[in-house]
Parts: sequence; C-alpha cells; structure tokens
Amino acid sequence: MIAANDPNIRSWVDIPENSDFPIQNLPFGVFKTAQLSPRVGVAIGDHIVDLKTLHVLGYMENLPFEQSDFHSASLNKIINRGKKATRELRNRLSKLLRSDVPDLKNKEHHVNQVLVKMSDAQMLLPVEIGDYTDFYSSIEHARNVGMMFRDPENALLPNWKHLPVGYHGRSSSIAVSGVDFHRPKGQTLPAGAAEPVFGPSRLLDFELEMAFITYPGKPLGQSISTEEAENYIFGMTLFNDWSARDIQKWEYVPLGPFLAKNFISTMSPWVVTLDALEPFKVQGPEQDPAVLPYLQYEGMKNYNIDLQVAIAPEGKQPTTICNSNFRYMYWNQSQQLAHHTINGCNIRGGDVMASGTISGKEPGSYGSMLELSWQGTKTIALADGDERKFLQDGDTVIVTGQASNGQTRIGFGEAKAKILPALS
Ligand code: CA
Repeated sequence: MIAANDPNIRSWVDIPENSDFPIQNLPFGVFKTAQLSPRVGVAIGDHIVDLKTLHVLGYMENLPFEQSDFHSASLNKIINRGKKATRELRNRLSKLLRSDVPDLKNKEHHVNQVLVKMSDAQMLLPVEIGDYTDFYSSIEHARNVGMMFRDPENALLPNWKHLPVGYHGRSSSIAVSGVDFHRPKGQTLPAGAAEPVFGPSRLLDFELEMAFITYPGKPLGQSISTEEAENYIFGMTLFNDWSARDIQKWEYVPLGPFLAKNFISTMSPWVVTLDALEPFKVQGPEQDPAVLPYLQYEGMKNYNIDLQVAIAPEGKQPTTICNSNFRYMYWNQSQQLAHHTINGCNIRGGDVMASGTISGKEPGSYGSMLELSWQGTKTIALADGDERKFLQDGDTVIVTGQASNGQTRIGFGEAKAKILPALS
C-alpha cells in the first residue's frame, strides 16, 4: 500500500466532516493570494499547504525537487520529475500532516506560514496543457448519441467496440473552474432549411467528463502498453466539455467536432493523483467482443467515482440533474493511453486526455442535456418551477465527484462555470 493512502491516518489540520480533502487525498493544484505569487499547493480540509514555503523552511530535504518546481504557475515541473518523485512527495506531505508526527505540527510559526485558507486563495489552471485529446469511451453515451444523431438500429458504429474512439481537441480554451464564458456563436442548419444561418448557439450543453493528466511519455515512435500505462498518468480532474449541439450537428461531418466544442472546457483545479485513487479501483464492464492483444489488460483499471451535475439558474439554488459514475467507462484509461501511443505518437508531461461524456444506463445518469432531454423532446425540472431542455444564459453548471470504498472518501472539488449572453 502507498503509505499516504493508509485509511487510519488522521491529520492535525482541522478537516470538516465530509470534506473532499481528507489527509488520504492530498491533491495538487496551483494557487495565488493577494500576498503570494502563483505556486504549487496541496489541499487539506479547508486549507492549502504552500509547497514553495514548505521547501524554503527545509521540510523537503532529500526529495528530488527544487524550490522553483513549487514556485511555479503550473504543476508541469513537478509532473516532469516523474511518478516515483511525486509519490515520494505525497508520502512526505502525508507524514508532515499526520497527527502523530510532531515535526511541523509543533512549530506554530511555520504552520502559520505554510497553511493558507482556501477562502483567501484563487485557484489557477493546474497544468500548462500541450495537447488535449477527447475520447468517447462511455458505451451508454455513444449509444444514446448514435440513436439520436444517426440510426437507432445501428447506434454504435462498427469500430466502437474495437478501439477507444477519440479526437484531438484544443488546449488553449481549457479554463479552470470559475471562469465564466459567453454563449458561442456559429453556423447552424435550421430544421428543414436548405442554407445555414449564423447566430448564438440555441442548443448549448455540458458534457460530464473526467480527464487524466500525463507524465512525460516515451520518445516518438515508441508505445506505452496497458501494463505500463498507469506509470504515465499523474492524476485526474473533473472536466466539463461544453458543447453547442446545433453547431455540432451541422459541422461534424466528416472530420468530427470543431467549433462546437473548442470555445471552452472547464477543469477542476485540484489534480487527484492516481496514487490516491488506488484504493477505489473496480472492475470495468466486460468487453465483448474481445479486444486486440495491444488493448487487453490485467487487473482492475476502473475507478468507483460518483459524479454529479447541478444547474443553478441566475440567482437561484442548484438542482442536481445527473448522478453518474466513472466506473461505467467501457474503455479504461490504460487502454486509452495504449491506443493513443500504439502508432508511435508521443505524449508529454501535462497533456490532458478526457474520458468523453460519462453516462450510465438509467436516464438520471445521462451526462449531457442532449441525452437528459432526449434531443429536446423531454423537459428537465429544476427547483422553483424552472425547467430546461438545453442551457440558458445565466445558468451555472457545477460538476462534482467523490471516490469512496466504504472506508475512505476523497473528493475532486468542483468544475463550475456560468453562461453569459453571447457577445454582440
Ligand atoms: Ca466530449
């Protein structure tokens, strides 16, 4: 067992009940405050541990990191040190924060310097993202979309069960939780029309996804096997891959989504390490037909992560409209990474690979408005008598997630953003 995952450890830092950030989590993020320049931190309870200051005070001795790795506006430098190094770092932090280790706990003047209240901090995008890939790995989502957009009798295309379908997205428009955005404009083809029109998207949607962030991979030309894949994955975040369905429907043939999906994607600020997720592994769905040898894998590669989506109309309380789980993923992350590199494509530290919309079997677990409203044929009820088919201006969409195993529960925080009216 990874030392920091011991469910019996308690911290001397006060941690509210049901916090996403018990000592067994210790996710990494980047923050700044009115006084502090951007730097790397780790979440615990309602606080952030300032790793740059911790290094300055001498608590990072004999670890393969330099002060500049932590005094940085992204996690890329620590990610580029590799899995062994980040595992040692998390284990050290766990030790410094546990209640039966006095080293930091008893030095009040140091504690006051390294613990920052989350409410005083602004979270930044955790990684400088070189490349962003979006998969399409939930069978329920692929089936639902195939039924609506193409053919209910042949909802899954012939390749779907043989390879994890994906496309290269755009990294420049990935934003951290809290960055609001204007409704996108574009071309759409109204029903029955022969010519397209231009204007604000009328069918704006969220996509409930998770993303994984990579360590540096192998040189161009080499591949990462399913067996090796977890050594190349640093951690995971929540991810909302906002989509304009009317723009998508008109533009996506034959090369796939383009402007319907690259206007913004929202990422949660805390990267939960794959190490911290180890106790929450579960078996994935059975794959039938059998996959080709390079996609076969052994052991449990899925994770039990409950996921929720809530909508809060302007000035109103949020209503949860979707409860899903990451374990529904047909293709796991190790298969995704093995497939991505099987042709020799290289990956870099800080690349982001998203899961694709995560839908379950039940309608209440569908991970997009497109599916929840079944292409606008059903209405979704919100609190206070509000209802939606797609998203309206002023709506805030909040994605949350928690991994649990009955003994320990760790959370991902939230990926949240508000839709502002289209710019004129
Ligand atoms: Ca997507």
